[in-house]
Amino acid sequence: MSAFAGKVGLVVGVANKRSLSWAIAKGAADQGASLALTYQGERLEENVRELADGLADPLILPCDVTADAQMDSLFSEIDKKHGGLDFLVHGVAFADREDLARPFSETSREGFRLALDVSAYSLIALTRRAVPLMEKRGGGSVVTLTYLGSERVFTNYNVMGVAKAALESSVRYLASELGPKNIRVNAVSAGPIKTLAAAGISGFSSILQTYRDRAPLRRTVDASEVAEAALFLLGPAGRGVTAEVLMVDGGFHAMGV
Ligand code: NAD
Repeated sequence: MSAFAGKVGLVVGVANKRSLSWAIAKGAADQGASLALTYQGERLEENVRELADGLADPLILPCDVTADAQMDSLFSEIDKKHGGLDFLVHGVAFADREDLARPFSETSREGFRLALDVSAYSLIALTRRAVPLMEKRGGGSVVTLTYLGSERVFTNYNVMGVAKAALESSVRYLASELGPKNIRVNAVSAGPIKTLAAAGISGFSSILQTYRDRAPLRRTVDASEVAEAALFLLGPAGRGVTAEVLMVDGGFHAMGV
């Protein structure tokens, strides 16, 4: 299958081989996409370069989403190389460790600002820069990654839950604005998966166990299942879908007592 043949995608959020963004990148590349991948700071550059080794002619560039100049040059490099962009994967989130451990009411002003900036505003900042490149292609598709902590309380998810609520709302506002340009904006809400970001949530193992006990499928999901849902939304099969938060969590979100 080559649903992404001739398509150009930008994937922001690869840290290592466990990253959900990497699973999506790999799936898109396997189906023919040309990719630009980014790394956050020199610390992660080598990881991303090693992973990208098997991809056909990837563009690899730095992108810290708090740095406007880096985002500007990222998109101008993509434009220079490919003359447009078909899809964007946003898999970026961050909150200070202390804010994921202390009582929620003690979230600091700076911790709140940082979590919302990196985890939610970055979708707006990246999408805005993607729009002119997507217009050159007659449209495009944006997918971000979110979590049910936006709507329900999960112990220690704290300010990240608030950031995910802002992120999901941003998906709807962006989708509404950009739909007339044939640009779709959606989110995949993944069940818990052990990644670098997940390691920052204390008590994460007990969240995993709760899903195994209570989700209709009686198991957790893996990165490949999240990636396939994202690829559906990014590719031609999802062409009628926008402003959606697609739950890929074994059905956990539907359960009451
Ligand atoms: P991950 O740690 O592999 O990915 C998070 C990425 O965010 C990393 O690549 C990191 O470099 C990047 N990042 C953080 N701050 C950044 C900044 N200032 N600029 C640029 N990049 C920055 O973990 P993951 O679990 O793959 O997370 C990807 C997304 O999936 C996140 O939005 C996360 O909230 C979401 N998600 C994860 C789970 C899970 O259980 N793992 C569940 C639902 C949603």
